[in-house]
Order: sequence, then C-alpha cells, then structure tokens
Amino acid sequence: MSTKFDVVVIGGGPGGYVAAIRAAQLGLKTACIEKWLDKNNTPRLGGTCLNVGCIPSKALLDSSHKYHDAKESYGVHGITVGDVAMDVSVMVDRKDKIVDQLTSGITGLFKANGVTSFEGMGKVLSSKKVEFTAHDGTVSVIETENVILATGSVPVNIPPAPRTGDIIVDNEGALDFRTVPKRLGVIGAGVIGLELGSVWARLGSEVVVLEAQDSFLSVCDIDVAKEAAKVFKKQHMDIRLGARVTGSEINGEEVNVTYLDAKGEEQKQTFDKLIVAVGRKPFTDGCLAADSGVKLDERGFVFVDEQCKTSVPGVYAIGDIVRGPMLAHKASEEGVMVADIIAGHKAQMNYDCIPSVIYTHPELAWVGKTEQELKADGVKYKVGKFPFAASGRAMAANDTTGFVKMIACEETDRILGCHIIGAGAADLIAQAVIAMEFGSTAEDIALTVFAHPTVSEAVHEAALAVDNHAIHIANRKKR
Ligand SMILES: Cc1cc2nc3c(=O)[nH]c(=O)nc-3n(C[C@H](O)[C@H](O)[C@H](O)COP(=O)(O)OP(=O)(O)OC[C@H]3O[C@@H](n4cnc5c(N)ncnc54)[C@H](O)[C@@H]3O)c2cc1C
Repeated sequence: MSTKFDVVVIGGGPGGYVAAIRAAQLGLKTACIEKWLDKNNTPRLGGTCLNVGCIPSKALLDSSHKYHDAKESYGVHGITVGDVAMDVSVMVDRKDKIVDQLTSGITGLFKANGVTSFEGMGKVLSSKKVEFTAHDGTVSVIETENVILATGSVPVNIPPAPRTGDIIVDNEGALDFRTVPKRLGVIGAGVIGLELGSVWARLGSEVVVLEAQDSFLSVCDIDVAKEAAKVFKKQHMDIRLGARVTGSEINGEEVNVTYLDAKGEEQKQTFDKLIVAVGRKPFTDGCLAADSGVKLDERGFVFVDEQCKTSVPGVYAIGDIVRGPMLAHKASEEGVMVADIIAGHKAQMNYDCIPSVIYTHPELAWVGKTEQELKADGVKYKVGKFPFAASGRAMAANDTTGFVKMIACEETDRILGCHIIGAGAADLIAQAVIAMEFGSTAEDIALTVFAHPTVSEAVHEAALAVDNHAIHIANRKKR
C-alpha cells in the first residue's frame, strides 16, 4: 500500500467515523480502519453505539414502552385495545433492521465524503505509521501524517459472574433475547443496567437489580436519584443496594446467584437470565505497538490533554478510550475537535457542558453540577424546581411524573446545572445545555418566551422558580 494519508482513524464508532467524515470534509486525505464483524461475519461501521449500544437499546426501549403504554395507559384516554401481545422476535428483528440501516448509512457517508475504509485491525507503530491487518490476515503498513485512535470500550467482566453467552450475558446478549425471561437478574444499577432492566420489566420479567454501592445513582443530582428510586419501585424493578455478587452457578436453564446483602449476610437468588452491567473499560488491546510511544494512564485510558493530544505528536485519541464520560456524543465532538485541529483550525471542547441521559421512562437527564457537588465545593447557589404535575401539556399527555430542577449561582445568577426527570427529559435538557454554553443566567431563560402548551414550559418555570417567580406553583417564600 503506497498511498500516504493525512489522517488515519483507528476505530469506526461515533468517535472515529465522525472524526473521519469531518477530516475528509476539511480536505484531508482520510482513511478509517474498523475491525467489527457482525454475526454473519460482515464488516460493520458504527462501533458499540450503533451495533450493540445506544441505538439498539433505544429501539428496544421504544418498542417495550409502546407495548407497556398500550397495556397500562391507553384506558385513561378511553382507548380499548383488547389483548395486547408482544412478539419479541419481531421486536428484536426490527432493532436489527435499524442497526443495519444506520451502519450501512455510514458506509454511504464514507463513500460520499471520500473516506477510504479499511476492514480489519489497526495498530499504531512508531513514526506515525499504522499497521493494518485485513480480515484475511494480510498485513501492510500505512503511512500517515496523523493518527486518531478511537478504539472504544468493552464491558467489564467480574469473576463471580463470567459470561456464558446464553444465560449470563452482557449488553450485547441482553439486546438479543428471543423470549421474555421470567426471572431476570441485572448486576449493576447504572445507565445500562437500568435501561436494559426496564425493557424486560415492561415486557413482564420479574427484574432484580443487584447493586454493590450503598447509594442509588450517585452520579445524579440527589433529588433526581430519590425520585427515580420511587419511580422504579412502582415499576416493580426490585433494586437491592449494597448487594455484592460473590458467585454464580449455571443449573440447567437457570443461574443461581449468591450475593452478600447490605448487612453482609449471604443471599441466594435464581434467575433465567443474568445481565452483567457493571461498567465498561477502555479497549486498547493490540492497537499500540510496544514502541509506539503512546502512554496510558493508571486506569488503562490513553493519556491525552484537553485537546485529545497523546504523548506522541500527531497521534490523537478520542472517545471511550480517553478520560471523561463514556458517551457517544462526547466521542463524536472530540472527533470533530481533533479533525479541526489537524486541519489547522482553532478548536476546543467544553467538557462542563456535556449532557447525560438515562433513557428509562421517565427519562433522567442532566448537565453541569449537581446540588451535592456544589455543596462540597462550597459554592453558593439558588435552586428552582418545577414539577411536571403542574404542567398542562404533561397532564394532557398523562405523563406527569418528575420535575425540572435548575441550579444557578447565588451571586451571578449564571446557570450551573440542570437536572430533569420526566418524559422527554433527553430532549428538554438540550435547552439547558445551550443556555449554559452561552453562559446564560436563570433570568435569561425566565425572560425567554416558550410555546404553550409544551412540556418545555417546565424549564421556563424552573428558571423563574430560581428567584421564586414561578407562575404555576406556589413559591417557596414570599418576597
Ligand atoms: C447498551 C449500551 C447503551 C448505550 N447507550 C448510550 C446512549 O444512549 N447514549 C450515549 O451517548 N452513549 C451510550 N452508550 C455508550 C456509547 O456506546 C459509547 O460511549 C460510544 O460508542 C463510544 O464511542 P467510541 O467511538 O469511543 O467507541 P466505540 O463505539 O466502542 O467504537 C470503537 C470501535 O473501534 C473498533 N476497534 C477497536 N480496536 C480496533 C483496532 N485495533 N482496529 C480497528 N478497529 C478497532 C471497535 O471494533 C469499535 O467498532 C451505550 C453503551 C452501551 C453498551
């Protein structure tokens, strides 16, 4: 292979493929190496996000939500639907079709933008050379001016519950059940555990979530976490905190799990399926030659600065393999930033304004600081809260759980954080992200006109509530 590239991206997930498209748009001669093969050994772009993460999980969340709504909530509107049934195979096949469509869409985008696609493994050698091993084993060396490493992450395995491929599974297996497990165990009450647990709980599984930490959703604002705990309990998700799994034993078609409960007493529970969702770790296996010079940090992440530059000039790393939240949109924006830097533009990313979402129903979404973080930092703040129960549009939609909580600096009124639990929180949070990105105050949002009736009005009212001016709730104190 004699062609020299300006940029070679290793990894075609939301970090890598976005970086490659942006680099090509900026006129850089770009290639992307991706090793993913699907169940039929067909090469696939899109990484974890499109193949076994964000997209397929949301497809199942949406299908199972519609089923649950039809079964439990249509009656309120006067709609009779008779016996509601779910054909799990149709649901899973639909999910697979969406994945096919989106991953081949990226192949099309690569062609349209002139990105050269290499199917196989990439490895960073010294002097910015990249070794490429095609799926048929052929090895070649690609010359390039710049390398962007975007090799993503893989699920963490725990010795007491090794994956079996059918009964004990990770996120990938949990997206492919062909029948609804009667008894479903989930290890880990994080984003992935709660989302996948919700899918199967809505379809009728008895879900038990075993979480080693004593507190629930400690990454979230404390009020949101408390409300979420109440909501999931009502949804019959049995979340057991302080539960440390110590062993698992397959017995025919089921698995017996042993764990220590919060009191340190041994407990046993039998499940038909067990999802291990205890987190993800950066994946750098085989992608760095011993003399590449690229340094990892003590937790195995590729060490980078604020601009995703590694310890080797011209080699960048983005997405799940570097510090920061493991989120697709964070990976993509880092990809854009790095492509811009390589093209000679000034670029930076605001790591304080990255939204996080848990796509349960209601959704949980947040950006910026939590109340407990501000307390710990000794920052003086004001809080405005507005419940969806007081929103006309939420009432009309029969979806009134949750609230918007806005936090602003006591001195400057600048928005420091926004925390939402409620239907559509994932989309509502964008309003707070934009406001924070522009350095807005709560008053700026309060002075903005919101369409009526919309659930967005709850964001407006929460901003008004920061200074006790909310219209549709009794304010905390008289002024
Ligand atoms: C079940 C689940 C649900 C999720 N839901 C969401 C969500 O709703 N929203 C959200 O923001 N995030 C979500 N995530 C997280 C999101 O998927 C990741 O943050 C995102 O995919 C990271 O992007 P990336 O490009 O860094 O890595 P990845 O998407 O992991 O892509 C890395 C790619 O690199 C390839 N690769 C690795 N090594 C090599 C090599 N040496 N040569 C060639 N190719 C290589 C891999 O095959 C892979 O395709 C979810 C994750 C899971 C598991």
